[in-house]
Amino acid sequence: MATSNASALGASGSSSSSLPEGPLSEGSKGPDVQRLQAVLIQLGYLSGKADGDFGPKTKQALMRFQREWRLTQDGEYGPRTRAALLKALVPVKKPPIVSKPSRNQESRRGVPIDAIVLHHTATNSARIDLATLRWVRGNNRVSAHYLVGPDGTVYQLVPDSMAAWHAGRSSLHGDTEPSVNTRSIGIEITNDGTGQTPFTEAQYRALEQLVPYLARRYWVPKENILGHRDVAPGRKTDPADNFDWARVRRAVDAAV
Ligand SMILES: [Zn+2]
Repeated sequence: MATSNASALGASGSSSSSLPEGPLSEGSKGPDVQRLQAVLIQLGYLSGKADGDFGPKTKQALMRFQREWRLTQDGEYGPRTRAALLKALVPVKKPPIVSKPSRNQESRRGVPIDAIVLHHTATNSARIDLATLRWVRGNNRVSAHYLVGPDGTVYQLVPDSMAAWHAGRSSLHGDTEPSVNTRSIGIEITNDGTGQTPFTEAQYRALEQLVPYLARRYWVPKENILGHRDVAPGRKTDPADNFDWARVRRAVDAAV
């Protein structure tokens, strides 16, 4: 954990120096408060001017930030809030998307997104994968929200707001209801799945953008960013053993 924080700091060196060490709380005054307020304004939690006076408005802005980042909502600026503000300053953008709509989708029935499930496709061909994930005949219709091709192209097949059919019979930490499909985003990665064929550098780069983006957008708990094999143990083995989870997790740790 400490090392991930350090890498997040490294990625946003100028931002880290612009945040005071703290602690600060209502009644604090001075240039440190001004720097904190400037960051809260930059992130859209506070409006007006950074006047260096930690009043009720600054406290409310901090509490809004703390609620969104699932921190204790005490309106005080301490080490945990500082660490989260540093991550919030790391820009997380959705990677470019190529739209390839699939009709294989259904309503999430009001279930919020709280999981991300990664797969390999076992074909090594994005062309075949796209055809499979958009195939509408028969009883074995499948889909995923995203497919990451070997060249790093990110295809979107199902909008995030809808459930895709990627997880099948599965459970999240033992919970079968709501179903994994209704609560998750599914990402297929084109690979032959033998455990011998490397996932490509371009795929990792795309995932290092896409997964943190989704994790922050939907506030997905890190323990719910999993492989198909984790939600369907004994039944599924994807992504294969040679998939470098550490790379993806480092990118998530730097952003959320
Ligand atoms: Zn799978």
